[in-house]
Amino acid sequence: MGTMSIDLDIALAAELDPIVDVAASLDLNPENIIPFGWTKAKVPIDVLDAAAQNATPGKLILVTAMSPTPAGEGKTTTSIGLTDGLNELAKTNPEIGRAVLALREPSMGPVFGMKGGAAGGGYAQVVPMEDINLHFTGDFAAIAAANNLAATMLDNHIHHGNELDVDPRRIHIRRVVDLNDRALRNVTIGLGGLNGGVPREDHFDIVVASEVMAVFCLATSVADLKERLGRIVVAHSRDRKPITVSDIGAAGALTALLRDALAPNLVQTLEHTPAFIHGGPFANIAHGCNSLLATKAALALGDWVVTEAGFGADLGAEKFLDIKCRAAGIWPSAVVVVATLRALKYHGGVEVADVQTPNTEAVLEGMSNLVHHCTNLRDIFGLTPVVCVNRFPSDTDEEMAAALDRLHGLGIAAVESTHWADGGTGAVPLAEAVVEAAENAGDGDAAQRARYSYELDAPLEDKIRTIAQRIYGAADVDIPAKVRRKLKQFADEGYGDLPICVAKTQYSLSTDPTLRGAPTGHIIAVRDVRLSAGAGFVVVIAGDIMTMPGLPKEPSALKIDVTEDGDITGLF
Ligand code: ADP
Ligand code: MG
Repeated sequence: MGTMSIDLDIALAAELDPIVDVAASLDLNPENIIPFGWTKAKVPIDVLDAAAQNATPGKLILVTAMSPTPAGEGKTTTSIGLTDGLNELAKTNPEIGRAVLALREPSMGPVFGMKGGAAGGGYAQVVPMEDINLHFTGDFAAIAAANNLAATMLDNHIHHGNELDVDPRRIHIRRVVDLNDRALRNVTIGLGGLNGGVPREDHFDIVVASEVMAVFCLATSVADLKERLGRIVVAHSRDRKPITVSDIGAAGALTALLRDALAPNLVQTLEHTPAFIHGGPFANIAHGCNSLLATKAALALGDWVVTEAGFGADLGAEKFLDIKCRAAGIWPSAVVVVATLRALKYHGGVEVADVQTPNTEAVLEGMSNLVHHCTNLRDIFGLTPVVCVNRFPSDTDEEMAAALDRLHGLGIAAVESTHWADGGTGAVPLAEAVVEAAENAGDGDAAQRARYSYELDAPLEDKIRTIAQRIYGAADVDIPAKVRRKLKQFADEGYGDLPICVAKTQYSLSTDPTLRGAPTGHIIAVRDVRLSAGAGFVVVIAGDIMTMPGLPKEPSALKIDVTEDGDITGLF
């Protein structure tokens, strides 16, 4: 999978609508958008604010997944297919209205590394796929520049006398680049004598791991962006006082670099469904979903909004609900849990190399993982889960029927979906199930329907324990004394009421990536905690978290090329 360029072939063969036509399908006039060429545009925030004032918000549908295998189970592909499926359904049931998609922008690290792009696959893709995967409208370059400006200004402050008494050993901001570049993980800067700055150890992260990215994705306006940027703690002083972006005088300049990027990007699916693709924070040390402004844009302009949260539901959905929805006062009307027969088999004990071999028994054995996620969504968050079994070419009818029967027997809505092979028509049964689930959720005000897994006013340590026990099914957490002291320091500095953002493996409900199914009695060992004061959460590190990935021996960059006609090849 993924080694051929089948996705790119389909994407390049597609006839795209001019972006003004896509905008027109949302009742936006040509002068309401800022075109980037013919097939991409930004939609200014004031246009979106005006639309939000005049419309009842659409129904929000969250797409999440069971604990995946390393190949990914198809959340992005399913989000795209479902949105096209809803619009397909609306052709015969006009009262359904129009569906709009909201997704993250891909990072170039994985594009050139192993996983490939993040623009869907098969006949469920967003286009122009090669632009979306490479540079797009330049947002990530703006975010990198803003982040690096803060780092530069901090080092410059130290160089010119260090009035704030910044402790060079307690610097938290790292420089970033949007590539998998392991050689930059640990570097020494400031060499070259008196004019080279003050020497110190430094580190690079990938852009999507930066707090500026998380801030960008939670900001509600330019003013809110500036405030959040100003709150980012970049270092501590020698007497252990936090030093923020505001303290070094950088909030205004960072905001200037990001002002234009903050407007959401509009593109389309292969079936001309409008898609907002904007922002892309990591799902481990950040919250893992597209910008809040893109979600709000879609809610203002669509009757249905489909959006994805990264990783499995224990991480992505939990953070989407407890962090993003809580901050924004939004709440989904239903949640789609993507499952695959191969992931079910994996959780049923089959090795990754053998998951394509039919094995109904293993499919049923692996249900424990999927059911755990569905039960959490229903019992803790009060949501109606709809399982989408994303059909792969090697799946058999017998395994599929067994999986669906088992889920139906447990009272869980579940359908097979073939959007990857068939586009929107393949997702019509899924769309119907989602509409039914959303109707049952009622029309109540989002804030009234919201149910979180923990309350913000609980102590930080209790919030971590609550997530571990309620969401992961753990017996307890293990928080070493040195980490407890840091949590106490955060609380003393006034950050005790922030929500929690857990960074742990997505392959297991536990912190051990090899522990499959739905483990019980396990302990969540917390290694470290970090403050993201601008984004507004405390990051809890419970595993090996890579904030600067490396390239594999045969990176996919080796296959990417440009033909004499200027067409890009080899992207997937
Ligand atoms: P996620 O968002 O969960 O990480 P993606 O939607 O990006 O997953 O899908 C991961 C990969 O699997 C992509 O290369 C995609 O094209 C492929 N894929 C997804 N669904 C299918 C399917 N039903 N059949 C074949 N390949 C698929
Ligand atoms: Mg994805």
